[in-house]
Amino acid sequence: MQLSEKNYKRIVVKVGSSLFCSADGTLEEGVLESFTRQISALFKQGKEVIVVSSGAIAMGMHVLGMKKRPKDLASLQAAAAVGQNELMHVYRKFFGKGWFGGQILLTRDDFNDRKRYLNARHTIEALLKKRNYRVQGVVPIINENDTVATDEIKFGDNDRLSAMTAVLVCADLLVILSDVDGLLDENKKVVRKVYEITPAIKAMASPTKKQTSVGGMITKIEAAKIAADSGIPCVIANGRKKNIILSVVKTPEKCGTLFVPK
Ligand code: GLU
Repeated sequence: MQLSEKNYKRIVVKVGSSLFCSADGTLEEGVLESFTRQISALFKQGKEVIVVSSGAIAMGMHVLGMKKRPKDLASLQAAAAVGQNELMHVYRKFFGKGWFGGQILLTRDDFNDRKRYLNARHTIEALLKKRNYRVQGVVPIINENDTVATDEIKFGDNDRLSAMTAVLVCADLLVILSDVDGLLDENKKVVRKVYEITPAIKAMASPTKKQTSVGGMITKIEAAKIAADSGIPCVIANGRKKNIILSVVKTPEKCGTLFVPK
């Protein structure tokens, strides 16, 4: 069966700081408006969407007037403590009436401890089911619990967290939104399909230079591998493109780089 013919019901969408925060942490309202509109549209189609969102540190930096990403853990955690709150507030505002974000903050430990792992899964399942006369939908919004994660337990980036979340919830599709069109080859052309992460594929990824974000294409490829190895297709696509999430869900092989699952 073609991947585009599949009905993707449960979708994890990862959005990074570099997409909706400019280098100084100012909010890119247009991107957020479009992002939340597409997520609610998918819910209305009967799909279940789980968002993995960065932005806590970037927003905290902005609110606290930090010009450069701090290097020490305590300052990063302080920025995240303030910024996570801002982040959820922003989601609430952009989702609009009848829509709610269910905040879930996870650490690596939560994935290593069976009881906590299952608890997280049950909470997400419960959130996705919440609908009544007041509630059109509740979107689970996951981030790393930056305020308590120390070097040993840090995921290090939300790309990996999104892949592990996709496995946690048995997702049908993982969409990693970036500010580029996908994995670009040496001629700057988008690689449409990846069947295996070879050294040549890794060489195409170069580190990001933005102040607010971590990761870059390398961590996205590693995340795609975690998903694909677990049988979950993963698409890296440009979050600034119009209706990109809706398009990816319809035709994953046409909208960025598709990592074909094993
Ligand atoms: N958890 C961090 C935050 O919300 C971001 C990590 C990442 O961008 O990968 O700021």
